[in-house]
Amino acid sequence: MPPVDATRPAPNDVQGHPPIQCEDCESALHSRDDSVSFLLLDQLTIPIIGCGNHVDQFVSICELTTTGRVDVIEHRPAGGIRCPSCQLAHYNLHQPVIPIQTGAVALMACSQHQTEVLNRFQSGLETQQQLTSSIDTSL
Ligand SMILES: [Zn+2]
Ligand SMILES: [Zn+2]
Repeated sequence: MPPVDATRPAPNDVQGHPPIQCEDCESALHSRDDSVSFLLLDQLTIPIIGCGNHVDQFVSICELTTTGRVDVIEHRPAGGIRCPSCQLAHYNLHQPVIPIQTGAVALMACSQHQTEVLNRFQSGLETQQQLTSSIDTSL
């Protein structure tokens, strides 16, 4: 008799993105507006969704690409979001999320600024990998 694992959720429970191992990120992405933080990256203010842990990791990787300040705040900044297109952006479950280690974060921004932040993140990842590999080869 094949074993039946009734504790696992049905695979079609997942909408729009692959399963995220981090439960906190997963629930943040599902509760959306309740768990928005604001990413301050140079001149940009971008609402970001994810658990505190993985948002912090995302931020520390973006920090590698700038000499300016990168910060995350829990509340809407006093100046609000400057980009009018970003103000209109809403997160939906079909939007791509950015995988980061065992979790994932989503950016609630217009496509231009999403791409901009994503590029930062990716070059930050490369910098991080270079740092790691240069340590490896120096051994
Ligand atoms: Zn997480
Ligand atoms: Zn924008």
